[in-house]
Amino acid sequence: MEVGMSTNVAHIIDRKGGEVVTIGPAATLAKAAALLAEHNIGAVVVSRDGTTVDGILSERDIVRQFASTDGVGTGSVSVSTAMTTGVHTATPAATIDELVQIMTTGRFRHVPIVDGGALVGIVSIGDVVKSRMDELQTEAESLQEYVTGTSY
Ligand code: AMP
Repeated sequence: MEVGMSTNVAHIIDRKGGEVVTIGPAATLAKAAALLAEHNIGAVVVSRDGTTVDGILSERDIVRQFASTDGVGTGSVSVSTAMTTGVHTATPAATIDELVQIMTTGRFRHVPIVDGGALVGIVSIGDVVKSRMDELQTEAESLQEYVTGTSY
């Protein structure tokens, strides 16, 4: 990558892949928690068909649901009861700066990526931080090479 060339969402999806873990709205929170644990992730996209975004359910929603009933019956509550609707999404053409803006303003750490109405990926705050670190590393190496003539 050239110095100064800004990474966009498509670059991140290319690197990490477009697999998105989804769950149906009628599934239980027990099933959702098992999915989060199995995939070592913090949120699942809620979708009836695996393509359309109907909602998002993060570990925070499960904690909130647990807190509201002291944990009684939390596992059998439906995903649709605890999920957030009105999901903020972005397209593959969005820049990383735009994603950071969306996450900071909305105070969430996950943004599903949608292209032509279909789910094509998800970017977490961890992906954004990794992308920034990679960019900085590339820039540092290019500058080092420019100053010293040493190539990596
Ligand atoms: P998170 O920080 O992503 O774990 O999520 C914190 C809260 O924001 C939870 O209630 C999520 O359901 C909600 N949330 C997460 N991502 C989004 C998003 N892209 N759009 C709207 N709400 C979201």
